[in-house]
Amino acid sequence: MAGKAERVGVVAVGDELLAGAHPDLNSPAIAVSLAELGRHVARVIVVGDDEAAIAASIAELCEEHGVVIVTGGIGPTLDDVTRHAAARAAGVPLVTSESALRELRDGYALTGREMPRSNARQALVPEGAEILPNARGTAPGFRARVGACELFVLPGPPSEMQAMLASCVRPWLAAHPVGDGSFRVQCFHLTGLSESLFADQAGAWMERGANPLLGVTVKGGVMTVRLIAHGVTVAQADAVLARRAAEFEERFGRHVFSREDARIAFVLGRELIERSVTIAVAESCTGGLVAAALTEVPGISAVFREGFVTYSNEAKVERLGVPAATIERHGAVSAEVAEAMARGAAERSRARLAVATTGIAGPGGGTSAKPVGLVWFAVAHDGAVHSVERRFKDVGRDRIRAWAATKALELLLRAVRGRSL
Ligand code: ATP
Ligand code: MG
Repeated sequence: MAGKAERVGVVAVGDELLAGAHPDLNSPAIAVSLAELGRHVARVIVVGDDEAAIAASIAELCEEHGVVIVTGGIGPTLDDVTRHAAARAAGVPLVTSESALRELRDGYALTGREMPRSNARQALVPEGAEILPNARGTAPGFRARVGACELFVLPGPPSEMQAMLASCVRPWLAAHPVGDGSFRVQCFHLTGLSESLFADQAGAWMERGANPLLGVTVKGGVMTVRLIAHGVTVAQADAVLARRAAEFEERFGRHVFSREDARIAFVLGRELIERSVTIAVAESCTGGLVAAALTEVPGISAVFREGFVTYSNEAKVERLGVPAATIERHGAVSAEVAEAMARGAAERSRARLAVATTGIAGPGGGTSAKPVGLVWFAVAHDGAVHSVERRFKDVGRDRIRAWAATKALELLLRAVRGRSL
């Protein structure tokens, strides 16, 4: 359990967050970012644009946390009341910061406009606060003391919030370390392993008091494992981390596709470009998701030849040259058809590498022999073709399709790296 100094409280301000119009993206971003500095978000309060409620939330969190971060409600309009609430919680008057006012005016002057009067509101801060400049927008943030707690007030729009978090809050926290030491972080991005299987194999590594502390997040078939090592000195934290990271590679290395980038399409795309491996994709159940993911990668045009979305049997026959008899004999969702699709895509687009997907995404169309969630994949690589089958849990069409697309990318990456499927 983290001590009070390491504990961070977050207040996300905005009627739109409570109304369900926008999910709160700021507190998760803060939690991930600050964990790397050994600070733990222990509580999050979401509150509407109400001065008294915001002030009460700030005051409450400042009692129990070393740092409190408030996001939102610092704009120029009358419904932006976070500045007033912060002053109220700190028990000090709200004053105009001359430097903030100058910066606001200068910002407008740069664009050849005069500052609207309402923007002067954005120069108001609790007496004694330090101004945090906003490089991405107009509203400056600020840092103030509330009792023994450091209060940071940041803008609501996530991109502005993240910029100020990186440029102002993190440096301040890094310069004011708490507890007795240093932290080091290492991420691993994995595919092909369920969270529960991972937990079984990770065992005691996942205990809450473990060092390094291990955190897991999962998105679209990609699992990200974050190791946070603690040591009295940086060197000690490094050593603790290096030891566990090596053990981790030994145990899970087969599933790790990157230490830097959770976007498997980007990892794959960069390797294809680097090695000049041309690629084509033939998609049935993923309907273009694999092609869409790959074409997100800048520079992919150097190697990406073509994507076929061959949804009907006829298209598989006409576009890819899958023998009609193969479909008739084995069904469209089969190893034989997947292999013929991959071979056809590679040949017809003259690509060295091709992947094919054919499966049953549901909700209808499943049988006991071929249930919803069954997907056949095939990879053609320099003329050799291999297929693999996956039976995804029937958790809905969207997720089956997303998982299948991730799996296709994983298989391609294995092929490029010369590993077996
Ligand atoms: P502005 O000057 O833009 O008014 P502000 O600091 O007053 O900035 P808000 O008015 O609270 O910020 O929010 C502006 C917009 O930012 C909201 O409409 C919403 O789209 C987004 N936003 C605010 N807080 C969050 C949050 N916690 N998560 C995701 N989006 C948010
Ligand atoms: Mg606003």
